[in-house]
Amino acid sequence: TAFSTLNLHSDLLSNLDSLGYEAMTPIQAQSLPLIIDGKDVIAQGKTGSGKTAAFGLGLLNNLNVKRFRVQTLVLCPTRELADQVAKEIRRLARGIHNIKVLTLCGGMPFGPQIGSLEHGAHIIVGTPGRIEEHVHKGFLCLDELNTLVLDEADRMLEMGFQDSVDVIIDAAPSNRQTLLFSATFPDQIASIAKRIMNNPVQVKV
Ligand code: AMP
Repeated sequence: TAFSTLNLHSDLLSNLDSLGYEAMTPIQAQSLPLIIDGKDVIAQGKTGSGKTAAFGLGLLNNLNVKRFRVQTLVLCPTRELADQVAKEIRRLARGIHNIKVLTLCGGMPFGPQIGSLEHGAHIIVGTPGRIEEHVHKGFLCLDELNTLVLDEADRMLEMGFQDSVDVIIDAAPSNRQTLLFSATFPDQIASIAKRIMNNPVQVKV
């Protein structure tokens, strides 16, 4: 299916054209209409499935660039994945002027991250431990968050990030949209989804 069948902003569609993205991958075709519609979505998808563009296009489409506040947070298990996700979101966002995507990961110096947060951002991508720390210390305010993405949720839990994820969720508004991507669905994922999501639609490809 073509991206043009979706209710996406024209600047996103024309950028997809220039990126050479023509047809949606199966995970995109199944999840994007729901995501654009504001639904909570649980999707099974590995790296290579096009899952980053699935949530990336959804969150970019729902963003208000004129409002210079953190509106979207993407939690990833590792710095490598966070860098990859931020890079893909920036590519998808090329048609949108003045959009700021910031990565916040552990193992990186703290000071420059505080400076970047003071300058502001629309989208934050990072690892749960470091983001929890910024929230806890008051450097990162999530009051205006409207979309939360848990990417590779199964790996995040395996790595012991459950407590950090819980603290972050407690600091976010409850009327947000939550998107959960995971390669596998152990009981622990089902129970976290039940706790933090609002009538999620499950998509399997
Ligand atoms: P991901 O599974 O998100 O890591 O994406 C895998 C690769 O596929 C990335 O390099 C994307 O840029 C690319 N990609 C994602 N969606 C599409 C699409 N609909 N058409 C062409 N390439 C895509």
